[in-house]
Amino acid sequence: MRPPLTLRVHALLKRSYANGPGCRAVVWVQGCSIRCAGCCNPGAQDRTGGRVIAVAEVLAWVRSITSIEGVTLSGGEPLDQPEAVAALLRRVRRTTDFSVILFTGFDWTRVAGTPALMDVARLADVVVAGPYRRRQHLGYALLGSANQTIHLLTDRYKLPDLEAVPEVEVVLDEVHTVLTGVNDATVT
Ligand code: SF4
Repeated sequence: MRPPLTLRVHALLKRSYANGPGCRAVVWVQGCSIRCAGCCNPGAQDRTGGRVIAVAEVLAWVRSITSIEGVTLSGGEPLDQPEAVAALLRRVRRTTDFSVILFTGFDWTRVAGTPALMDVARLADVVVAGPYRRRQHLGYALLGSANQTIHLLTDRYKLPDLEAVPEVEVVLDEVHTVLTGVNDATVT
C-alpha cells in the first residue's frame, strides 16, 4: 500500500489578515531551494527542518477553522513540494469554498513553463511569483519586492483586494509571537 502523502511544514497559523484578503489560515511549508539574499523567513529554508505532516491532517486542520475566507500557502517554497501541495489544494477546492493564495519564489515564466508547477498554480486564485530581491524591497499588496508578479487565475479577487491587505501584522498567542506579512515577515 502506498504510504500517506506528507507535507514538510514550517508553521501553521489559523487566522491571519496579512497573507491575502480577509481572514486566512496560513501554511508555511519547510524547505526552499531558492535561497534569496535577505529572505524574510530563513528558518524555513532547511529542507530537513520543520515537521512532516500527512496532507490529510493538514486538510483536516484547515477545514476545522471556522469563519475564514481562505488559505494561503507560503514558505519556504511551496513548489518544492508540488505533489503534496497540489494534493492539499485539490482537496481544499473539492471540500470547501475557501479561496487559495499561493506564494512562490520561482519566476512566473518558470512556473508557466513547467507543467508540474503549473498544475499546482492552477489550483490557486492568486499566485505571487518571483524571488525576494532586497534592493527592490516593496512590502505592499502581497509583494515583498518590486520584481515579484501577481497572477489572478480566477475572478475571485481583483488587484485592489490585494492592495488592501495589511503589510504586516503581529499575532500573539500563549506560545508564539508571529510577525507576518510581506514587510519583513518572520516567524518565531
Ligand atoms: S523564496 Fe521565499 S523562503 Fe525561499 S529564500 Fe526566497 S524569500 Fe526565503
